[in-house]
This record gives sequence, structure tokens and C-alpha cells, in this order.
Amino acid sequence: MIPKPIVAANWKMHKTPQEGVKFLSELNNLLLDKEMPSIIFCPPFTSLFHMNEILSDLEYFLGAQNVYFENEGAFTGEISMNMLVSCGVQYVIIGHSERRHIFKESNNDINKKIHTVLKQEIFPIFCIGEKLDDRETNNTRKVLVKQLEEGLLGINKDMMSKIIIAYEPVWAIGTGINAVPNQVEESHDMIREILLDLYSMNIANDIPILYGGSVKPDNSEELIKTKGVDGFLIGGASLNLEMFSGIIENVHNNSMR
Ligand code: PEP
Repeated sequence: MIPKPIVAANWKMHKTPQEGVKFLSELNNLLLDKEMPSIIFCPPFTSLFHMNEILSDLEYFLGAQNVYFENEGAFTGEISMNMLVSCGVQYVIIGHSERRHIFKESNNDINKKIHTVLKQEIFPIFCIGEKLDDRETNNTRKVLVKQLEEGLLGINKDMMSKIIIAYEPVWAIGTGINAVPNQVEESHDMIREILLDLYSMNIANDIPILYGGSVKPDNSEELIKTKGVDGFLIGGASLNLEMFSGIIENVHNNSMR
């Protein structure tokens, strides 16, 4: 597992391969010779090959935003783990809330994808999080228990050492309204308690849990100082050089773990 803190950039459906490569070299120039957290770029599939070519000279990691659970076949529009590995992918985001809600991915689909990723010795970034009405009806724990239990079905203790969790409350993603530190701390504690019940104290304590949801340079300092936060999964702000490098510096300067 890469060292904590971890900052993962989810570029969603943004940036062409040329724009992605340009962003990487500009970021690298900005951060040159500075100490950094571990940084994972998750661009669209079309950029993976080109970004991998320049990433091998830089100290960043490459991730995909999704994968299909079959190896090959008549699955128009889908992509397999072999294809991702051949582009140098080391991480795969699984169960992002946009996949769950727009593309109707179930916990069962997500579970199959986690197994598929782990079979290739690649690291899943497993996203979980409650919707606003779950939070308002005090159902956050119930939702997290279900997502973790069903998403991790059949995943044993050894396999857990390759998983990164991203806690991303749905109401905070892309809305400009981040969860405040005490909400984040409470949810990360809940996740560790659930993992203690499902696995062991070591797994619950050691697993990296990233926070995601409207992280920006101006809230990143207090969020990274929050107990139990091992880094961030960042959407919008990871597309902008100044914002992303500002967050990276705050993570580096303020990380507790
Ligand atoms: C995300 O897409 O995972 C995310 C957290 O987006 P944003 O940072 O834009 O809220």
C-alpha cells in the first residue's frame, strides 16, 4: 500500500489525453523538489495510456474510474481489468456515487468489481456514503453498514490490505457543501467500527480512509487535520492546477498520520 496521506484526483468526464498530459507536467513543475503526499490520478479511460507514458518518469500513480467485472466478451462500452493493467493502471475507483446513482450500480455489482480488481493485484478505491435524506433520517450508519457488508462480501482479511476506502457523502459531492470536520470524524469512526465488527482491530485502524466531497484549498487544511482522515478523493478542484496544488501543499503541511 502506498504511504498515507493519499490524494486521489477523480477527473470524471473531463480532459482530453493532451490536456491531461499537459496538466501533469505543469503540476510537476509547480511541485518540483517539494515533498508530497501520495498522488493518484484517475483520468478518463482515453487518457490512461498517454498519461502512463509520462507518469513513469514522475512520482505519481495512475487510477481508473471504473471497470467491468467480466474479462472480455460482448459487453459494448465496457472495459476490462486486463485492458486497464495494460495501460499501467494501479488503482481503480469502485462504487463512486455517480456510478451508483446515474448508472444504477448495485452493491452486488460493486462487490463483483472489487473481486475482479483484487484478482489482478490492483488496489480498489471503494467509495461509500449516504444521501442527504439518509443523514436527515439518522440512517447514515445503516447505509454505511449495508454498503460495506454487501460491497465487501467474500473479501478476506488479506485482501483488505489492498483496499482504500473513500467516504463520500452524496450530498457533498460537486455541491460546494463539504461535510464539516465533526461529521467527517464521526463517519470515519463509524466506518472503522463497522470494519472492526467485520474484520479486526488492525484492519479497522490501518485501512486508509479518504474523505471526498467539495474539498477545496480553503477547507482542506481543517479537513486533513480531522481525526481518522488519511487523505482526499477530489473531483472538481483536481481539474484546476492552482486549486489542486494548493490542496496538495495543505495535505503535506497538516497531515496528522
Ligand atoms: C468526487 O467526484 O469524488 C468528488 C468528491 O467530487 P467533488 O470534489 O467535486 O465534490
